[in-house]
Amino acid sequence: MTYRRVMVLSRWKALGMLGLLVCILWLGTVFLWHVLVPVTSDLSNWHPTVVLDPGHGGVDGGANIGEELMEKNITLTLALTVRDLLVAKGVEVGLTREGDRDVAGPGPAKGRHRRDLLARLQMVRQGKVAVSIHVNSVQDPQQQGALIFYGKDNEQGRMLAASILEEVQKVQQLNHPAPVPRTNLLILREADNPVVILEIGFISNPIDRAKLQDPAFLQQMAASIATGIVNYLLTNGDKNMWGYWQGKGLPCGKEPV
Ligand SMILES: [Zn+2]
Repeated sequence: MTYRRVMVLSRWKALGMLGLLVCILWLGTVFLWHVLVPVTSDLSNWHPTVVLDPGHGGVDGGANIGEELMEKNITLTLALTVRDLLVAKGVEVGLTREGDRDVAGPGPAKGRHRRDLLARLQMVRQGKVAVSIHVNSVQDPQQQGALIFYGKDNEQGRMLAASILEEVQKVQQLNHPAPVPRTNLLILREADNPVVILEIGFISNPIDRAKLQDPAFLQQMAASIATGIVNYLLTNGDKNMWGYWQGKGLPCGKEPV
């Protein structure tokens, strides 16, 4: 083999290696993208006034009594009703999910829960305010009533929670009389905007369980959540409530005070 032929061959070999490296990098990037970045990563044009987060979904049923009563279905029904009530008042609403699925995106089962939480966090951060809706379940069947959490140092979150609780207590017994500060819940800890987690009742308690299966109760609960959110937005003089004020018949062009 001549020296020149060796050079040509090694150049081809080098090019082949480079191609292989590019392929590996590309495949690695695609893999990491799907594993680490949730499907909801492009949210640059998504800024609803209110983000509603129906807890769980898809493979994640949440708290449940077998198949017939599952947290993921209750939270979705409730969130969709709250959405409709808010939209009817002219409030812009976005949901983290509108069907029976989680928001983890594609990827291995391992790490799904964390990907789901991170995707929800990205979405709740886009809202002026956000409410994550859940159903509780504990060992002690005596535990009963609604509970609302906010991020410990998030004062606006506490005010939003208080406004919602004020209305919720008209339709449901409270498990705790005031909003409860938390430091260990990712969505509350990492969001700077007013974000709260509302537990509407305990599936593990017979009285609450009956309520959770009652469409009239869910309708009342939805109305109380919607009113609590609107009251918070109004007391904070929110310009994003313009649609609401127009619905109230304010003359066009006149901004709310
Ligand atoms: Zn839950």
